[in-house]
Amino acid sequence: MHKPRVLIVEDEQDIAGLIKHTLERGGGADAEIVGSGDAALKAVAARPPDLVILDLNLPVLNGLEVCRILRSRSDARHMPIIMLTAKTGEADRVQGLELGADDYVTKPFSLRELSARVRAVLRRSAKPDEPQAMAYAGTRLNADFDAVAVAVDGASIRLTRREFELLRYLVQNKNRVVSRDKLLERVWGYDRLVETRSVDVHVGRLRSKLGGAGRQIETVVGLGYRFID
Ligand code: CA
Repeated sequence: MHKPRVLIVEDEQDIAGLIKHTLERGGGADAEIVGSGDAALKAVAARPPDLVILDLNLPVLNGLEVCRILRSRSDARHMPIIMLTAKTGEADRVQGLELGADDYVTKPFSLRELSARVRAVLRRSAKPDEPQAMAYAGTRLNADFDAVAVAVDGASIRLTRREFELLRYLVQNKNRVVSRDKLLERVWGYDRLVETRSVDVHVGRLRSKLGGAGRQIETVVGLGYRFID
């Protein structure tokens, strides 16, 4: 069986070592540590891992820059990335998610929480279990899911990775009600770590970014959401 390979990008050796130990012992993963953003970019190019755990606070090239560069490269555009951020770094977290990180964990973190996040992200990326919607062309909304391009009334819209996946899943199930639990499971990949309320927050943000086409995402009271074709 294929052991997932995790690249840990962290200059603090104690923390990096602890993460490696936890993932290899408890998670059945193979973990490699690099101490700088530059080394991370080289390691990804040499042998793409299944997941990158990326500390934001790195010397020279910081984690946000590394994330931006990885997302711009064809070999790492869809590579799962979990960021490690400082407790006070709310702006960094938002920017990291905007840049396409899959998830973040706040320092100091519990190793159990980190392992759970790692498992969730790996599980989600391991099974493209349903045929994924490739494109949608409506009167106002146009989405090319393959090219990661979404436009409303001809103007392109910037979505976070999560908002993009949310839209894709809703479109894939268009004209059907999708429950919050289902969205959590399919879009977030965790069972209980995220509150269902956070689904509402993300749907709200997605809706407002879609402007005139936002109305296509209906709230079905007590049940969930439905994308209307
Ligand atoms: Ca660090």
